[in-house]
Amino acid sequence: MISNYIINYDLSKKVDMSYLQKNYILPIEKHNLYTTVVASDDLTASYLESVYNTPIKYIIYSQKDINYALENISIKQELYDLYKKSLQMNIDNEQSDILEFFDKLIQLSIIKSSSDIHIETLRESMIIRFRIDGYLETVFRFKLELFNILSSVIKLLSSMDIAQRRIPQDGRFTKNIDGHHFDFRVSILPTITGESIVLRILENNTILNDINSLGISNDNLNTIKKSIEETSGMILVTGPTGSGKTTTLYSILEKLNSGSKKIITVEDPIEYNIENIQQVNINHEIGLTFSDILKNILRQDPDIIMIGEIRDSESLHIAMQAALTGHLVLATLHTNDSISTINRLIDLNAPPYLVASTIKTIISQRLIRKLCDTCKEKVKIGNDEYYKAIGCNICNIKGYKGREVICEVLSIDNTISSYILRQEDEAKTLKYAKSIGFKTLYEDGLSKIDKGLTTPEELYRLVSCQ
Ligand SMILES: [Zn+2]
Repeated sequence: MISNYIINYDLSKKVDMSYLQKNYILPIEKHNLYTTVVASDDLTASYLESVYNTPIKYIIYSQKDINYALENISIKQELYDLYKKSLQMNIDNEQSDILEFFDKLIQLSIIKSSSDIHIETLRESMIIRFRIDGYLETVFRFKLELFNILSSVIKLLSSMDIAQRRIPQDGRFTKNIDGHHFDFRVSILPTITGESIVLRILENNTILNDINSLGISNDNLNTIKKSIEETSGMILVTGPTGSGKTTTLYSILEKLNSGSKKIITVEDPIEYNIENIQQVNINHEIGLTFSDILKNILRQDPDIIMIGEIRDSESLHIAMQAALTGHLVLATLHTNDSISTINRLIDLNAPPYLVASTIKTIISQRLIRKLCDTCKEKVKIGNDEYYKAIGCNICNIKGYKGREVICEVLSIDNTISSYILRQEDEAKTLKYAKSIGFKTLYEDGLSKIDKGLTTPEELYRLVSCQ
């Protein structure tokens, strides 16, 4: 991987950018006897030899890999400058260089639509990775010396103890970038080589939670909209970690937030602030637990209660009681599909009669990567036509840009309710649900392939890694 090198970006400044792009090359490091350059092909080296005044040693990578390394190169060059200055930090320049480095890093992460920034120590270097559309991508590798300087700045910004390197810490800070307000949730974990720092990027003043904009297909969207008109019972959003459950829940809340209902949420931690909603943060430090809050919520005369995640049978029990007594309860649960969720609830010691009478709707979802409109290409295999991911500068050379929801929505009607009560097997429930129009997650994904929005590979990846 090109990202295994600590790239000296000073070298690329000496050559015209268009030359690098046209020939797919990136100079990496200069030694006394030669200069290392990654390239897609062995080139005639005379031009570069004259630029660097040494023989050139080529290391061959694919054009795609080199394109990726060349992306946003001017920002990377600036970051490299600031990195060098930060290492020479003395009393004169105080912390301004490292602060500028950090700001620029955040700026780059936002340009690349990242959801998280990971800053980690390794044995002999440190790496910075961005999570983009669910995937981690290594953006930088630097000398280990930078880490402590950077870690101190982040701790300072997030009101953490700077001297503390041996216990986990968490905090948050806010930054204004190009007129947008961003919240950062920070977690620092001590590791065997130093620390692992993760910054979750939360944009806090945009309505990113419109339920119509999540990419949910029309039939499913209509079923969901109908289900949230209920005034009691429980709606569950399920899926593995990182499947967008919380965003869906927030978008439902946003839709329900009309001002005529009292809405209370219990979260760990609160990710977005919403107007007109009472949001309660779980606070482990003072022993304020999930079930403590839930027990007290009912005295607050709520109409709608949102629970971040059901983690144990006690919280499930309280949530079900609330759903049974005239409240609409929204919650998430970590399960693979909608029908197996029923058994999961029973495994959590919920009596079948209570599951049958309280659960109204189960949404099971994943986030599927969308093909980049700029570079996708139609391919024909047999009689089938679909699109293939290629990769261009618009999409970080990935071929995909952005993600949307694929889901299955199971409405619990009287028949399914009676199946739950009698604990019928899942196959019978599935067969019945299909007879009344239920479409599985996989079928929903297929319809996105038909529309040219994603690829078969992406769908197989999602449904096979459960
Ligand atoms: Zn593209």
